[in-house]
Amino acid sequence: MLIRQIALVSQTNKISSSGLSRVGAALQKQATRDLAPIWEIKATVDTFAKLSDVPVGYWPIIISEKDLGDAAGIHEDKQGQPFALVRWSYGWSLTASHECLEMLVDPFGNRIMAGQSPMPNQGRVEFLVEVCDPSEDDAFAYRVNGIVVSDFYTPDFFAPAPAPAGHYSFTRAITAPRQILKGGYISWHDPVTDHWFQETFFGAKPTFRDLGQLTAKPLENLRGLLYRHTPERSAAKQVPFKGALQKASKSSMEAHEKASDAKAKALQSRIAQVIKDFA
Ligand SMILES: [Zn+2]
Repeated sequence: MLIRQIALVSQTNKISSSGLSRVGAALQKQATRDLAPIWEIKATVDTFAKLSDVPVGYWPIIISEKDLGDAAGIHEDKQGQPFALVRWSYGWSLTASHECLEMLVDPFGNRIMAGQSPMPNQGRVEFLVEVCDPSEDDAFAYRVNGIVVSDFYTPDFFAPAPAPAGHYSFTRAITAPRQILKGGYISWHDPVTDHWFQETFFGAKPTFRDLGQLTAKPLENLRGLLYRHTPERSAAKQVPFKGALQKASKSSMEAHEKASDAKAKALQSRIAQVIKDFA
């Protein structure tokens, strides 16, 4: 099976090298343990000190302090290979996880899955596969090694009807096919009208919007095209975690750090002992 290789690179000194490697380890574990069995994808996630260290063939996720505006997200280089830009915030692990999962499931931003439209007057439509968007809010995040990561939907998300054993998103926050949770959204193309539509839940309740016929710029994929029509997307990703999550996340990370520290100390003294024994 093809291995998809992600490179996590920080371009801000707000992230220490140990902080970067801990998030990298969490994203690797999430990709292997949680995403791989559901989406049948094999992936590695490695961290690199700088962009020039990233081997050819890896897809970089770059964390930056720059105001990325609407450019936050996944793009392609001149060879059409994906890379992601993540704006640093206290919640950057959630955003990095979001982009990592979406890049792994749909590297080239054109993956479509057919299903029943969420709009009552439409039939079968084509959804753009963005596995984190419907449950992207930090309220639905979970933790790997104490690091906050994003929920993501499963292929069953596009099932025609709810099933007793239905599993629609990893954390099961999504409880029915094509359900959009608060803070999330989804985009689809209706072949009958040739219009793109969205269901967004950025306000008090979910709403539909008709984006009309959309024309991509040269070399632009569907993902980039829809990014341009969803300005709320980047604003939502640049806020720090809400109070409760911030606190829980901090104490969870501290607990993991404590355990790692203790383990490292014990190993360090065992190493000294082994060296002594063989001296
Ligand atoms: Zn997304």
